[in-house]
Amino acid sequence: MDSARQPAEIGFGLQAFARPPGAPRLPRIARGEGVWLIDTEGNRYLDASSGPVASNLGHGHPRILAAMEAQARKAVFAYPSQFESEANLEFAERLGRLAGPGLDRAFIVSGGSEAVESAIKFARQHAVVIGQGSRWKVIGRQPGYHGNTLGALAVSGDEHAHEIFGPMMRAVPRVPAPLSYRLPPNHTVESHARACAAALEEAILREGPETVLAFIMEPVGGLATGALVAPDSYYEAVRQICTRHGIKLIFDEVMSGAGRTGRFLAADHWPSARPDIAVLAKGLSAGYAPLGAALVSAEMVGTVAAAGGFMHGFTYNAHVMGCAVGAAVLREVEEADLAGNSARMGALLRQRLEALAAHNPLLGDVRGLGLLLAVELVADQNSRQMIPLEKVAPSRVQQIALRHGLALYCRRTSRGAYGDWLMLSPPLTITAEEVGILATRLGAVLDDYANELRSEGVL
Ligand code: PMP
Repeated sequence: MDSARQPAEIGFGLQAFARPPGAPRLPRIARGEGVWLIDTEGNRYLDASSGPVASNLGHGHPRILAAMEAQARKAVFAYPSQFESEANLEFAERLGRLAGPGLDRAFIVSGGSEAVESAIKFARQHAVVIGQGSRWKVIGRQPGYHGNTLGALAVSGDEHAHEIFGPMMRAVPRVPAPLSYRLPPNHTVESHARACAAALEEAILREGPETVLAFIMEPVGGLATGALVAPDSYYEAVRQICTRHGIKLIFDEVMSGAGRTGRFLAADHWPSARPDIAVLAKGLSAGYAPLGAALVSAEMVGTVAAAGGFMHGFTYNAHVMGCAVGAAVLREVEEADLAGNSARMGALLRQRLEALAAHNPLLGDVRGLGLLLAVELVADQNSRQMIPLEKVAPSRVQQIALRHGLALYCRRTSRGAYGDWLMLSPPLTITAEEVGILATRLGAVLDDYANELRSEGVL
């Protein structure tokens, strides 16, 4: 492992058992209140990213805690092949109604990777049942992220993870994501996105359309691309390409779903590019329980059910406590109009970030949708040059941020191949005043980081 990519930077929870010697101590969590996290020494940190874009309702939400307590006093677990549960019925009903036609049946699991595995296995079994057993390849995007189990990782575009785990996975084609900040020569954002959509069709034709099962993408990117949003025409193009070749379009909405981008699903921003399958997790339970779901149509479920049912399942499918939390979260998302608040506060935060970019030399790009935002850090705003690999340890920015009372989620992609960014994705419950505090503190963090880089001769 090269020194610039220490285990502590890899993120995704490895820190707990793989922190390098000498890594700075993390604060120890004592409690949470709304957008604030408080450590055992009494320091308060504004949660600027909802952890890994999960805590959509903030911390210690009284209605969710009350729902958890009420459910705990009734039943926490009952196996879904033996018992129905009210929690499961209410959660599935709310989820189906919010996700809307064509995505109104949920296979409920305990996280994003499981939900992606379930989605691609369901698509495969459906293809087999309808006599299209030659279809198995799932095309993904480079870069892209869909989870860390081997099936979900196989369809993810992360060169570093593939170097390590590639031999254990079945290789599938990947096509470029329409990155918008550093474009190939002679391209505009639009023309590059058109070329990326064309690359999907070329890959399908090269592989043989009858072998391709699905195309999976994050409609608004997460950590892999730093909240990448493509031009509208891209979504329509990939939808048409998938339809033309009988391929299922899967939107991974693990980060973007449940109100995060200003609509319940990010897919709702592009009604003419509706996916066949959507995958949710994270905000679905807002971090109050491990929960995820693969959403498909009633028609697909009916077809597979008539042929004997989905040959797949986990002990914690439709977990009763998980479903009770999910139902309470969705009730709150609807009643408090959290998607609407995400759109409003997202616009405000974006303005503040753009204002910061005007005076801080490190801020190269601000992008995203609703409260799924990211800022890209650069050594030079004009050339868009990246900060040298050894100077940009995300843990370093995270550490400066802690000193300013800000909890940040940072990423340098695959050994710096794509860039460096900070996710700015606070809880959807954030107020305008708290957005102001977040932006002011972030400005101070970036000023400190810029001063450090100046003293090191980088800026
Ligand atoms: N897909 C996306 C887009 C994600 O952001 C994540 C988590 N970061 C996953 C899938 C995997 O979810 P989990 O970590 O819950 O397995």
